[in-house]
Amino acid sequence: MYKIPRKDEVGEAVLEVLRNYKEVASQAILHSLVLDKLRKENQFFKISPERVRKVAADLEGVKIFVEKRKSSREAKKCFICGEKMVWVEGRSLLGESTKTGKRCPRCGFRIDRPGLEPRRYVFYLRQHVRN
Ligand SMILES: [Zn+2]
Repeated sequence: MYKIPRKDEVGEAVLEVLRNYKEVASQAILHSLVLDKLRKENQFFKISPERVRKVAADLEGVKIFVEKRKSSREAKKCFICGEKMVWVEGRSLLGESTKTGKRCPRCGFRIDRPGLEPRRYVFYLRQHVRN
């Protein structure tokens, strides 16, 4: 028996957590703090760490910093919002078109080479909305 919280319920919990802590230094920590808040409303609420991150990414005023590390696999999905990333085309010195990295068409997140993966997320509020 469990219940899926609505997006606005999750968003409110994320903002509350970030107002209290200013900076949350991992997705796992944000998830556990948000889940604690949600479960005060309904003890059967269930949510994945990825969904907490995606809801946070859509909130005005929330900034997410991604620490990356090398990976042997090509990154396909945006580290922030989960959308499929597209190649960024560049020009070599000889004028040939080259693929220089990837970017997310939805949120604008970029990586300068494809062989990366997220190592750690840091979540915080933009200065102007802190109060
Ligand atoms: Zn994205």
